[in-house]
Amino acid sequence: MRKIIHIDMDAFFASVEQHDNPELKGKAVVVGGAENRGVVAAASYEARKYGIKSAMPGKTASRLCKDLIFVRPNFERYKEVSNQIMDIFHEYTDLVEPLSLDEAYLDVSDSEMFATKIASNIKKKILETTGLTASAGVSFNKFLAKIASDLQKPNGLTVLTPEIAQNLILRLDISKFYGIGEKTAEKMRNLGINKGQDIYDLEEDYLYSNFGKAGVFFYKMVRCDDIRAVVPFRERKSLGAEDTFDADIIDLDDLKLKIKEITQRVVSRLDKKSLKGRTITLKIKYHDFTVQTRSKTVDSNIYLFDDIYTLSIELLNTPAVPHKAIRLLGISLSGFNEKTIKDRPKQIYQLEFDFRK
Ligand SMILES: [Mg+2]
Repeated sequence: MRKIIHIDMDAFFASVEQHDNPELKGKAVVVGGAENRGVVAAASYEARKYGIKSAMPGKTASRLCKDLIFVRPNFERYKEVSNQIMDIFHEYTDLVEPLSLDEAYLDVSDSEMFATKIASNIKKKILETTGLTASAGVSFNKFLAKIASDLQKPNGLTVLTPEIAQNLILRLDISKFYGIGEKTAEKMRNLGINKGQDIYDLEEDYLYSNFGKAGVFFYKMVRCDDIRAVVPFRERKSLGAEDTFDADIIDLDDLKLKIKEITQRVVSRLDKKSLKGRTITLKIKYHDFTVQTRSKTVDSNIYLFDDIYTLSIELLNTPAVPHKAIRLLGISLSGFNEKTIKDRPKQIYQLEFDFRK
């Protein structure tokens, strides 16, 4: 059985603004425009108490709460925080599939750690790094993990085991189903479909003729039958290994020996991911903590021990052999061959802001 985690930041844009501007804390805040055609991109939990929601016209929002504070979106800042949380996810697995700036699926099936433990560690790290809370859902497929993360927002952690998942889905209101928007929900309600159980009781053909492919999808989802894989999106930019020495080294033969050891580790990491790079970088940290990097890009793929070793020695010698004692050496590869990277979905997720929540 797979172990899938869905992580979703709580009221992301609004929370970033409240974190960055302490005077907004505890207040009804909306990110987005108040002007005639402005739309609410995100609402703080305080604003949500007034019934203010994402995608609502700014005008409507200000009518609902007269003390509402409008903040202009700062997407660069959100992207920066997004990178921080994505980096945290990647500490646990390469199988990270972002859904938007503030949400992602993680497949941690191969991890020896309990998925619930990973989820709670991630939440803790996100809070330490960004000062923000996230909600996590843990289950055995993507659909359930996504639903789980939403069940105890904000700052929740919900686990849906096979024992409880099926029952929960049958009792769940269709508005809580990921993928059922307002229009579909309305159409479903007109047909008497209000809960998971109502979908469960219908024939696949009936659902197909009324809702097309989405109907078939929900036929499967209410049976907890979701085989969709977590498709990693981010390209690995570099891969390498480094070593900090017990004592600083200046002797060239000793340095070569260290390079041999590090090369071995780089090769085994490349093998594991079946990656081949085109650029090799040697990082040298001196006894005084100054750092130098020397790189070279070649025409052919670099992945063999001999090539990595030879090129690293060449970099050590070019432009000149270091004359200061060295405390750390690192070798890394980048410029990976496109074909060796798993197929990525075509979406550009910077443009995919989720305004539905
Ligand atoms: Mg969110």
